[in-house]
Amino acid sequence: MDRALQRAMILSKKQLAVLLSKMRTFERPDVQLEQYPTDGEVAADILWNAKMAGELNGRTVADLGCGTGILGIGALALGARHVTFLEVDPRTFPALMANLSKLEADTGKKYGNYEIVEGDAAAFGGRVDLVVQNPPFGTRERGADVEFLRVAMRAAPVVYSLHKTSTEEHLKRVVAGAGRHLAALTRYEFPLKQTMTHHEKRIERIETSCLRIVS
Ligand code: SAH
Repeated sequence: MDRALQRAMILSKKQLAVLLSKMRTFERPDVQLEQYPTDGEVAADILWNAKMAGELNGRTVADLGCGTGILGIGALALGARHVTFLEVDPRTFPALMANLSKLEADTGKKYGNYEIVEGDAAAFGGRVDLVVQNPPFGTRERGADVEFLRVAMRAAPVVYSLHKTSTEEHLKRVVAGAGRHLAALTRYEFPLKQTMTHHEKRIERIETSCLRIVS
Protein backbone atom coordinates (compact mmCIF):
# COMPACT_ATOMS: atom_id res chain seq x y z
CA MET A 1 0.00 0.00 0.00
CA ASP A 2 1.42 3.37 -1.01
CA ARG A 3 0.52 5.95 1.65
CA ALA A 4 1.83 8.96 -0.28
CA LEU A 5 -0.42 8.03 -3.20
CA GLN A 6 -3.40 7.57 -0.92
CA ARG A 7 -2.90 11.01 0.61
CA ALA A 8 -2.78 12.64 -2.81
CA MET A 9 -6.34 13.43 -3.91
CA ILE A 10 -5.24 13.68 -7.49
CA LEU A 11 -2.38 11.75 -9.06
CA SER A 12 0.52 13.66 -10.55
CA LYS A 13 1.85 12.57 -13.92
CA LYS A 14 4.98 11.23 -12.24
CA GLN A 15 2.92 9.21 -9.74
CA LEU A 16 0.89 7.79 -12.60
CA ALA A 17 4.07 6.78 -14.45
CA VAL A 18 5.43 5.08 -11.33
CA LEU A 19 2.11 3.29 -10.73
CA LEU A 20 1.89 2.07 -14.33
CA SER A 21 5.55 1.03 -14.46
CA LYS A 22 4.88 -1.44 -11.64
CA MET A 23 2.10 -3.25 -13.50
CA ARG A 24 2.44 -6.90 -14.45
CA THR A 25 2.92 -7.61 -18.15
CA PHE A 26 2.55 -10.66 -20.40
CA GLU A 27 3.98 -13.80 -18.84
CA ARG A 28 4.24 -15.81 -22.02
CA PRO A 29 3.67 -13.31 -24.85
CA ASP A 30 1.98 -14.65 -27.97
CA VAL A 31 4.08 -13.52 -30.92
CA GLN A 32 1.26 -13.97 -33.41
CA LEU A 33 -0.98 -11.62 -31.38
CA GLU A 34 1.90 -9.10 -31.08
CA GLN A 35 1.76 -8.97 -27.32
CA TYR A 36 4.09 -6.10 -26.51
CA PRO A 37 3.13 -4.04 -23.44
CA THR A 38 3.18 -0.25 -23.50
CA ASP A 39 5.99 1.25 -21.46
CA GLY A 40 4.75 2.84 -18.20
CA GLU A 41 6.16 6.31 -18.93
CA VAL A 42 4.69 6.29 -22.43
CA ALA A 43 1.26 5.18 -21.18
CA ALA A 44 1.34 7.95 -18.53
CA ASP A 45 2.23 10.58 -21.13
CA ILE A 46 -0.56 9.56 -23.51
CA LEU A 47 -3.16 9.47 -20.74
CA TRP A 48 -1.96 12.72 -19.24
CA ASN A 49 -2.39 14.46 -22.59
CA ALA A 50 -5.95 13.14 -22.81
CA LYS A 51 -6.65 14.32 -19.28
CA MET A 52 -5.25 17.79 -19.99
CA ALA A 53 -7.38 18.03 -23.13
CA GLY A 54 -10.47 17.33 -20.98
CA GLU A 55 -11.08 14.05 -22.80
CA LEU A 56 -10.78 11.63 -19.90
CA ASN A 57 -12.21 12.79 -16.61
CA GLY A 58 -15.83 11.66 -16.26
CA ARG A 59 -15.78 10.03 -19.70
CA THR A 60 -16.44 6.50 -20.90
CA VAL A 61 -13.34 4.82 -22.29
CA ALA A 62 -12.51 1.64 -24.23
CA ASP A 63 -9.06 -0.01 -24.23
CA LEU A 64 -9.14 -2.29 -27.28
CA GLY A 65 -6.57 -5.11 -27.27
CA CYS A 66 -6.01 -4.23 -23.62
CA GLY A 67 -3.56 -7.03 -22.83
CA THR A 68 -2.69 -6.66 -19.17
CA GLY A 69 -4.58 -3.36 -19.08
CA ILE A 70 -2.03 -0.59 -18.58
CA LEU A 71 -3.91 2.02 -20.65
CA GLY A 72 -7.38 1.35 -19.26
CA ILE A 73 -6.04 1.16 -15.72
CA GLY A 74 -4.33 4.52 -16.15
CA ALA A 75 -7.63 5.90 -17.46
CA LEU A 76 -9.42 4.65 -14.33
CA ALA A 77 -6.73 6.21 -12.14
CA LEU A 78 -7.25 9.57 -13.87
CA GLY A 79 -11.00 9.60 -13.32
CA ALA A 80 -12.66 7.91 -16.29
CA ARG A 81 -16.34 7.26 -15.60
CA HIS A 82 -16.22 3.74 -17.05
CA VAL A 83 -13.61 1.62 -18.82
CA THR A 84 -14.21 -1.32 -21.15
CA PHE A 85 -11.24 -3.67 -21.37
CA LEU A 86 -11.46 -5.75 -24.56
CA GLU A 87 -9.02 -8.53 -25.34
CA VAL A 88 -9.08 -11.61 -27.56
CA ASP A 89 -6.66 -13.63 -25.41
CA PRO A 90 -8.11 -14.51 -21.99
CA ARG A 91 -4.69 -15.72 -20.82
CA THR A 92 -4.00 -12.03 -20.10
CA PHE A 93 -6.90 -11.73 -17.66
CA PRO A 94 -5.19 -12.96 -14.46
CA ALA A 95 -2.49 -10.27 -14.86
CA LEU A 96 -5.12 -7.68 -15.79
CA MET A 97 -7.09 -8.49 -12.65
CA ALA A 98 -3.95 -8.45 -10.51
CA ASN A 99 -3.17 -5.00 -11.95
CA LEU A 100 -6.66 -3.75 -11.12
CA SER A 101 -6.18 -4.98 -7.54
CA LYS A 102 -2.82 -3.23 -7.42
CA LEU A 103 -4.45 0.01 -8.56
CA GLU A 104 -6.96 -0.32 -5.72
CA ALA A 105 -4.27 -1.15 -3.16
CA ASP A 106 -2.02 1.72 -4.27
CA THR A 107 -4.71 4.39 -4.45
CA GLY A 108 -6.87 3.12 -1.58
CA LYS A 109 -9.98 3.37 -3.78
CA LYS A 110 -12.41 0.81 -5.12
CA TYR A 111 -13.05 0.86 -8.85
CA GLY A 112 -16.17 -1.03 -9.84
CA ASN A 113 -16.66 1.06 -12.95
CA TYR A 114 -15.16 -1.23 -15.55
CA GLU A 115 -15.93 -4.36 -17.54
CA ILE A 116 -13.63 -6.98 -18.99
CA VAL A 117 -14.76 -8.38 -22.32
CA GLU A 118 -13.24 -11.32 -24.16
CA GLY A 119 -13.55 -10.81 -27.88
CA ASP A 120 -12.16 -9.75 -31.21
CA ALA A 121 -11.75 -6.00 -31.58
CA ALA A 122 -13.08 -6.24 -35.13
CA ALA A 123 -16.49 -7.14 -33.69
CA PHE A 124 -16.57 -4.34 -31.13
CA GLY A 125 -19.77 -2.38 -31.60
CA GLY A 126 -19.74 -0.28 -28.44
CA ARG A 127 -19.91 3.51 -28.26
CA VAL A 128 -17.69 5.43 -25.87
CA ASP A 129 -16.31 8.95 -25.45
CA LEU A 130 -12.69 7.92 -25.86
CA VAL A 131 -10.70 4.97 -27.20
CA VAL A 132 -7.14 4.62 -26.00
CA GLN A 133 -5.34 1.67 -27.50
CA ASN A 134 -2.03 0.06 -28.30
CA PRO A 135 -3.15 -2.52 -30.85
CA PRO A 136 -1.07 -5.04 -32.78
CA PHE A 137 1.17 -3.19 -35.24
CA GLY A 138 0.11 -5.37 -38.15
CA THR A 139 3.53 -6.94 -38.59
CA ARG A 140 2.33 -10.50 -37.92
CA GLU A 141 -1.20 -10.22 -39.16
CA ARG A 142 -1.28 -7.75 -42.01
CA GLY A 143 -3.89 -5.04 -41.63
CA ALA A 144 -4.57 -5.71 -37.93
CA ASP A 145 -3.49 -2.15 -37.05
CA VAL A 146 -5.79 -0.57 -39.64
CA GLU A 147 -8.70 -2.74 -38.52
CA PHE A 148 -8.25 -1.58 -34.90
CA LEU A 149 -8.02 2.04 -36.02
CA ARG A 150 -11.22 1.80 -38.07
CA VAL A 151 -13.10 0.17 -35.20
CA ALA A 152 -11.83 2.82 -32.78
CA MET A 153 -12.92 5.67 -35.05
CA ARG A 154 -16.40 4.17 -35.31
CA ALA A 155 -16.60 3.70 -31.54
CA ALA A 156 -15.53 7.13 -30.32
CA PRO A 157 -15.24 10.81 -31.28
CA VAL A 158 -11.72 10.91 -29.79
CA VAL A 159 -9.07 8.22 -30.29
CA TYR A 160 -5.49 7.86 -29.05
CA SER A 161 -3.86 4.99 -30.91
CA LEU A 162 -0.27 3.81 -30.68
CA HIS A 163 1.42 2.47 -33.81
CA LYS A 164 4.72 1.67 -35.37
CA THR A 165 6.29 4.88 -36.70
CA SER A 166 7.03 3.24 -40.06
CA THR A 167 3.27 2.90 -40.69
CA GLU A 168 2.47 6.58 -39.98
CA GLU A 169 1.92 7.72 -43.57
CA HIS A 170 -0.39 4.83 -44.33
CA LEU A 171 -2.41 5.41 -41.17
CA LYS A 172 -2.73 9.13 -41.92
CA ARG A 173 -4.48 8.15 -45.15
CA VAL A 174 -6.79 5.79 -43.27
CA VAL A 175 -7.74 8.63 -40.90
CA ALA A 176 -8.35 11.07 -43.75
CA GLY A 177 -10.30 8.39 -45.64
CA ALA A 178 -12.64 8.03 -42.67
CA GLY A 179 -13.26 11.78 -42.77
CA ARG A 180 -11.51 12.27 -39.44
CA HIS A 181 -8.89 14.74 -38.34
CA LEU A 182 -5.41 13.87 -37.09
CA ALA A 183 -5.02 16.47 -34.35
CA ALA A 184 -1.64 15.41 -32.99
CA LEU A 185 1.10 12.91 -33.57
CA THR A 186 3.59 12.17 -30.79
CA ARG A 187 6.59 9.90 -31.23
CA TYR A 188 7.84 7.61 -28.49
CA GLU A 189 10.74 5.24 -28.39
CA PHE A 190 10.58 2.51 -25.82
CA PRO A 191 12.42 -0.67 -25.01
CA LEU A 192 10.86 -4.04 -25.60
CA LYS A 193 11.71 -5.52 -22.26
CA GLN A 194 10.51 -8.94 -23.15
CA THR A 195 12.64 -11.45 -24.91
CA MET A 196 10.83 -13.23 -27.64
CA THR A 197 12.66 -16.13 -29.16
CA HIS A 198 12.71 -14.64 -32.66
CA HIS A 199 14.46 -11.49 -31.46
CA GLU A 200 18.17 -11.48 -32.08
CA LYS A 201 19.03 -8.69 -29.67
CA ARG A 202 18.08 -8.97 -26.03
CA ILE A 203 16.99 -5.36 -25.78
CA GLU A 204 15.27 -3.93 -28.78
CA ARG A 205 13.96 -0.39 -29.01
CA ILE A 206 10.78 0.30 -30.82
CA GLU A 207 9.80 3.54 -32.50
CA THR A 208 6.14 4.27 -32.07
CA SER A 209 3.76 7.10 -32.89
CA CYS A 210 0.63 7.99 -30.99
CA LEU A 211 -2.12 9.35 -33.21
CA ARG A 212 -4.69 11.63 -31.61
CA ILE A 213 -7.77 11.59 -33.78
CA VAL A 214 -10.77 13.84 -33.38
CA SER A 215 -13.95 14.40 -35.39
N1 SAH B 1 -2.79 -2.62 -24.99
C1 SAH B 1 -1.84 -3.43 -24.24
C2 SAH B 1 -1.30 -4.60 -25.07
C3 SAH B 1 -0.60 -4.22 -26.35
S1 SAH B 1 -0.15 -5.65 -27.31
C4 SAH B 1 -0.74 -2.54 -23.74
O1 SAH B 1 -0.75 -1.38 -24.12
O2 SAH B 1 0.14 -2.98 -23.02
C5 SAH B 1 -1.58 -5.89 -28.38
C6 SAH B 1 -2.72 -6.61 -27.70
O3 SAH B 1 -3.78 -6.79 -28.65
C7 SAH B 1 -2.38 -7.99 -27.19
O4 SAH B 1 -2.83 -8.14 -25.87
C8 SAH B 1 -3.15 -8.94 -28.12
O5 SAH B 1 -3.50 -10.17 -27.51
C9 SAH B 1 -4.35 -8.09 -28.48
N2 SAH B 1 -5.00 -8.48 -29.73
C10 SAH B 1 -4.42 -8.90 -30.88
N3 SAH B 1 -5.35 -9.12 -31.82
C11 SAH B 1 -6.56 -8.84 -31.26
C12 SAH B 1 -7.90 -8.83 -31.73
N4 SAH B 1 -8.19 -9.20 -32.99
N5 SAH B 1 -8.88 -8.46 -30.90
C13 SAH B 1 -8.61 -8.09 -29.61
N6 SAH B 1 -7.36 -8.08 -29.11
C14 SAH B 1 -6.34 -8.43 -29.92
